[in-house]
Amino acid sequence: MSLETYHTLRKTPVKGGFLYTKPGARGLNNPAYELLAEALEPHGQEAVDLNPGIGLVAHSLHQHGLNVRAIETSRASLRCLEASFGSAVRVARGLPWETEPDSVDLVAMVLPASRGTRYVELSLLGAARALRVGGRLWIAGSKDKGFEHYFKMAQSLLGYGVLVRRNGAFRVAVLEKEQPAPEVPPVWQSFDWEFSGEALHFSYLPGVFSGGQLDPGSAMLLLELPHDLGRVLDIGGGYGALSRPLVGRAQSLTLLEDDWVSVLSAQKNLGELATVLHSDVDEALTEGQTFTTIVSNPPFHVGGLVVLETATAFIEAAYARLERGGKFYLVANRFLPYEPLLEARFATVRTVAVKSHKVLMAQKLG
Ligand code: SAH
Repeated sequence: MSLETYHTLRKTPVKGGFLYTKPGARGLNNPAYELLAEALEPHGQEAVDLNPGIGLVAHSLHQHGLNVRAIETSRASLRCLEASFGSAVRVARGLPWETEPDSVDLVAMVLPASRGTRYVELSLLGAARALRVGGRLWIAGSKDKGFEHYFKMAQSLLGYGVLVRRNGAFRVAVLEKEQPAPEVPPVWQSFDWEFSGEALHFSYLPGVFSGGQLDPGSAMLLLELPHDLGRVLDIGGGYGALSRPLVGRAQSLTLLEDDWVSVLSAQKNLGELATVLHSDVDEALTEGQTFTTIVSNPPFHVGGLVVLETATAFIEAAYARLERGGKFYLVANRFLPYEPLLEARFATVRTVAVKSHKVLMAQKLG
């Protein structure tokens, strides 16, 4: 798939209208979203969706006549939401636990189970806080991804709840807020690791990739990089694991990241040392902006599904954004078939290390 195709929004019919979607965005053909959109019943006037993806559930709430806000972290999903809703639904970038307290009558949320327990717990807390007493929380998820556990947790935060739908492993429940919600506890976490004799300190928010420990693949990639790197681009930079150790070896550092939680973490770790952009692949770069070295540990899960579309777009973007003679270093699980994708574009493709992961280097013609 070309980069242009990756970045193109597609109008997709859904019940009662259409929504825009694109590769890399969550929430289409996802049974949890479909079941929740179908099962929802209106309550009061003000509603918020804390995990909208492309907006299937927000769309259903809007059709029920509610004033809807959709709070999302993914830039790819935000692009779809903004295109689909205009002013019909207020779309905002934000964290699910930073909601305005006691402000809404209804919260809807597909449990963000693929982001880890802590992230889901904080999202439920954000939901509980956003609701007025007497307001309702609708949640959906899979029993194979901790639905029962999260439903119990929601009940202890809010009060009475019932299971209203089941379809295969998928469940929808509704709860009523009977008591005030607790405060949000401190959310930042941190850890240290040593790279080339230098102690590095990292902060991160729940839900980031490999928070708390350097990913073994990322560690392998770092060891393969030459000393002088020129202008460096880090695609899918997470909390900054690849960029932070390169400070001092790069003329400049630019980090692109789709996930707002990761962007905030990377900004905290890099401060003025890098330009950190909330970006769906290279969408936030200006036209013609190119780099000497590009590094990436691409994602291969989006909402729990293995998809190569995003990783393919990373490769296409790396090619497009390298200057002549520039080098792209990529690390991946050994089973991922990136070589043919790289060979279709780059003049030279080499495997530079293989252990738990493989590190590939692709060079653009000089
Ligand atoms: N470089 C980091 C993170 C690697 S995981 C590290 O080595 O630890 C891959 C990262 O790509 C994740 O942080 C994920 O949020 C991000 N990502 C996923 N889809 C993306 C997209 N469309 N555009 C930019 N970043 C994306």
